Order: sequence, then structure tokens, then C-alpha cells
Amino acid sequence: MEATVGDTTTSSDPKPQVIYRCKKCRRIVASEEYIISHERGMGQKRFKWNKRSDELDMQPLECSSIFVEPLKWMQSVDEGCVGDKLLCLGCKARLGSFNWAGMQCNCGTWINPAFQLHKSRIDECHI
Ligand SMILES: [Zn+2]
Ligand SMILES: [Zn+2]
Repeated sequence: MEATVGDTTTSSDPKPQVIYRCKKCRRIVASEEYIISHERGMGQKRFKWNKRSDELDMQPLECSSIFVEPLKWMQSVDEGCVGDKLLCLGCKARLGSFNWAGMQCNCGTWINPAFQLHKSRIDECHI
């Protein structure tokens, strides 16, 4: 007699998943689960040259890049560099850069270590 195993219905995750693709060759370079989120910083402080520029500085800064965990396709990471460019494995487009010592997002927050992908180089897809 055979016992029926695997009876449990594997319910698919209802939460929408986000993946990131290289804009040029559509290769998947990251997904939601690898994203390292960070608190939006106060922005890189700039010296105020005149009062009129205050208003511009008050605008909240949208992060222009995402930070992820080190991923397989990041070959230069494996080579043991402290920091380097991150090139797409498919088309060699520059998608961002990494630095084990950390990097500052344009919002002002430091991420350490940092594996940064520029939002302008990747497409965000909801699947
Ligand atoms: Zn940021
Ligand atoms: Zn590519």
C-alpha cells in the first residue's frame, strides 16, 4: 500500500513579485527578494549659496538606484575587487557599481557593503 505524500497544496505566493531587467537585453538582474532597502536620507548636504536655492533643496530626493545583495552574475565581485563596475552579463552594459566599503545613495544614506544598480539602466517589472 502506498501512502499518499505531497498532498499539501502548494499555494503560490499571492504577493506580487518585482523583478529587475537590464533595459538593453532584458536579462533579469535582480528580484525583489534581493533588494536591500534603506531609509531615505536627508540628501547630500550642499552649501547654500543663496536663499533662493533653499526651495529646491527641500524637495524629497527619489533614490536613483537600488541596492541589492551580491548576485551570481556580478563577476567582478568574485574577482575579489573592493569596488568596481557592475556589467550586465548579457550585453555588458554598465548597470551600476559595487563597493565593499560602502556607497552613498543619492538620497544621502550610506549602504555598506553596496551593490548598486541604477534605475535608469534597468526596468522594473511586476510579475
Ligand atoms: Zn536612497
Ligand atoms: Zn544587458
